[in-house]
Amino acid sequence: MPALCSNCSEKRAMLKRPKTGHSLCKLCFFFAFEEEIHQTIVAAKLFKPGETVGIAASGGKDSTVLAYIMKLLNERYNYGLKLMLISVDEGITGYRDDSLETVKRNQQQYELPLKIVSYEELYGWSMDAIVKQVGLKNNCTFCGVFRRQALDRGAIMLRVDKICTGHNADDVAETVLMNVLRGDIARLRRCTAISTASEGDGVVPRCKPLKYAYEKEIVLYAYFKKLDYFSTECIYSPNAYRGYARTFLKDLESIRPSSIIDIIHSGENLSVREGVKMPVQGTCSRCGYISSQALCKACVLLEGLNRGLPKLGIGKHHRLHEKILSQQPLTENEEKKLKSGDF
Ligand code: SF4
Ligand code: ZN
Repeated sequence: MPALCSNCSEKRAMLKRPKTGHSLCKLCFFFAFEEEIHQTIVAAKLFKPGETVGIAASGGKDSTVLAYIMKLLNERYNYGLKLMLISVDEGITGYRDDSLETVKRNQQQYELPLKIVSYEELYGWSMDAIVKQVGLKNNCTFCGVFRRQALDRGAIMLRVDKICTGHNADDVAETVLMNVLRGDIARLRRCTAISTASEGDGVVPRCKPLKYAYEKEIVLYAYFKKLDYFSTECIYSPNAYRGYARTFLKDLESIRPSSIIDIIHSGENLSVREGVKMPVQGTCSRCGYISSQALCKACVLLEGLNRGLPKLGIGKHHRLHEKILSQQPLTENEEKKLKSGDF
């Protein structure tokens, strides 16, 4: 006889929940998964009635599940939110153009307004062009910095109050691990936060409603709900370090599934010793975006691209960057570094 759902004891169990090990039928799984996200939203007070919320949509499984569930919970529990989709077009042929088609279908399926902002439009550079210039080593640095600003700019154009992103528990745990491995205290402190307030003009508050949702369950949910999502990896994805952290995490998860949540809790509970210096946030003197340096990272990277010095802005040599950007004379040694591209 087939095993029955351990929740309703009526229907046949269709899956074993990766997070809890319970054998559930499809409907009981849907309900449990949706309820947990609702509880996360309520407990952290992520939204207020009347707010306009932009859902960062890439067409991938996480943001598709996020858009579907935000719409569902907004209706089921009367959150009173106005929802929109915001997509970033990095300009990656064969990857983003296809995934944007998925987002456009989601827009129809969920009847939500959609805004697409492109790197080409905002910066004059597509990722295809950037990779041609910088190669496949630091491309994700450019892409990550540009995406963060692009989402903010899209959100401001749409006048949204908040952006929610599809980061799931595995992503957060992975980021905690990476920040520990790099000793990046400032990021470690921020990365487990479920929501961030606006840090200055031009920065829209963000939140992660899927923070405690396991990637495996997101995949199961999307699969059983037959959601329309795009599952190809970016063709420029060389992020080897993150890849190792990911494999390590998956190995831990297979031994003990609670490892993912345990790592998130560890990150949340690490306190930073008094007296540890944190970067002071100011604004970029060129574009006005928040920055702890005179110029924000996006402006430095962009300047490097436009001047044919793509390594400008990679690494931590702020003094040299600032000298070059303000056209101060360089020492002989600095000249040498600049010519060799080793800075
Ligand atoms: Fe951008 Fe790198 Fe992600 Fe591709 S893998 S979308 S280049 S950050
Ligand atoms: Zn700037």
